[in-house]
Amino acid sequence: MMNDIPRSGRALVAGGAGFLGSHLCSRLLNDGWEVICVDNFQTGRACNVSPLAAHPRFTVMRHDVVDKLPRVRVDRIYNLACPASPVHYQADPLKTLRTCVLGAMQLLELARDVGARVLQASTSEVYGDPLEHPQGEGYWGHVNPVGPRSCYDEGKRCAETIFMEYARREGVVVKIARIFNTYGPRMAPDDGRVVSNFIVQALAGQPLTVYGDGTQTRSFCYVDDLIDGLVRLMESPEDLAQPVNLGNPAELTMLEMADMVRKLTGSRVPLVHRELPVDDPTHRCPDITLARTRLGWSPRVDPAEGIARTVAYFAAEAKRTRPADGPVQHAEHAEHAEHAVPGASVRRYAPADRA
Ligand code: NAD
Ligand code: UDP
Repeated sequence: MMNDIPRSGRALVAGGAGFLGSHLCSRLLNDGWEVICVDNFQTGRACNVSPLAAHPRFTVMRHDVVDKLPRVRVDRIYNLACPASPVHYQADPLKTLRTCVLGAMQLLELARDVGARVLQASTSEVYGDPLEHPQGEGYWGHVNPVGPRSCYDEGKRCAETIFMEYARREGVVVKIARIFNTYGPRMAPDDGRVVSNFIVQALAGQPLTVYGDGTQTRSFCYVDDLIDGLVRLMESPEDLAQPVNLGNPAELTMLEMADMVRKLTGSRVPLVHRELPVDDPTHRCPDITLARTRLGWSPRVDPAEGIARTVAYFAAEAKRTRPADGPVQHAEHAEHAEHAVPGASVRRYAPADRA
């Protein structure tokens, strides 16, 4: 079971300006950690981390993880750096592969050199379009290696291989979280994933875009639950070096998700069907026995409650960003975002801070 979760030390969060990364930064700061957010702002947003900018234990470092990182002494490294939405990871597939593979190696080398633990944000996509249901960690998957999703699926699979080899050969303490679809406040409105699309569309009075016939399933986890799982996994005993599924087994079809969003937004917008993306998995549901038994973790927020909280977030954002009579303005991904995070400390680490 769990060791006590440490409440001090220095953590590096790669991808810390993204949806999950920014929640993780907040959680670690609340727990007492000093946090270095490393991000190239490809899909991350300055507004996700600007509320943290004034925190004395928070630093933003604009950096691409495919490049060598400064040898900053850290105790924990969370690797969340990678676009997660199909729209974004397919926009530049070779860049996605470089981020997955070279980024993993750079972070593992840093971990080895400074003696840090390192956690990889892997994905349920490693199971592809699964032939087993639900998916346990022992299932090796059913992945198209040459399709449009493969830059992400195979990139993440290769990253798992790299993590395991650094554990075996270099003695690095590694953790691998296979994350299933996660949603919540701070998703970008233009992210392209189903939950944010449906909510933004419903609030704007537009039809909900259902890809294919909508009978495909996903299992949706609320962000706070997922972040708690990541922290527990990071602090789990060293012998837990195998991948661990983190997700909410509550499985829904996209038609059920559309109905839930319409109900919770009080919207009567119609559905409009669009072509199903190539290799879109037909169903997906985690077996979380390992996380339950080894981490004492299971999700607490059911989909109706989590979607209601997410609707409230997007409604407040729409109100905040809508000019008097105009359309919703989506926040831009910040160019040179470290400068766009008001008050953010972009610390140049003194030699004493380096390993
Ligand atoms: P996101 O796109 O909001 O966040 C990704 C962050 O990584 C962004 O801030 C982006 O700018 C940054 N980034 C991308 N490439 C980078 C690079 N080369 N160098 C530095 N920073 C880089 O996505 P998210 O939903 O927060 O996902 C975070 C991680 O969790 C990803 O690795 C993703 O694969 C994994 N994951 C997420 C989900 C989910 O449902 N949210 C599911 C499975 C896995
Ligand atoms: N989807 C949809 N409408 C949208 C966006 C996505 O019906 O506007 C579908 C998509 O085809 C997939 C499911 O919703 O079957 C989940 O898609 P998402 O991109 O959120 O996550 P992933 O496919 O990576 O699991």
